[in-house]
Amino acid sequence: MERSALKELLLTEQQELNTRIEKIEKNRSNRSISKQFDEQSVERENDEVLAGLDMEAKFELKAIETALARIDTDYFDRCTKCSETISDERLKAIPHAITCRNCAE
Ligand SMILES: [Zn+2]
Repeated sequence: MERSALKELLLTEQQELNTRIEKIEKNRSNRSISKQFDEQSVERENDEVLAGLDMEAKFELKAIETALARIDTDYFDRCTKCSETISDERLKAIPHAITCRNCAE
């Protein structure tokens, strides 16, 4: 894949994630303010789900940052394990992938 095309995909993904994280965190802080006694256990479960989503999104964001950090290098589209070029198909599906499909499995 072209360097500029991949960079664009990564930046788009990064933006989407930041929006998602913002929403999750807004949701989480609203919840803790509006806690009711009889709803507490349900709320707690929801909080855990949100915390999980939040963590997942932040983990993905880290991966995007890692991918962006190597976008200006010669190996921006290479697998970190076997050095093969990562397929366009895979990068379109997962722009922050830094391993090829074989190595990811
Ligand atoms: Zn590989």
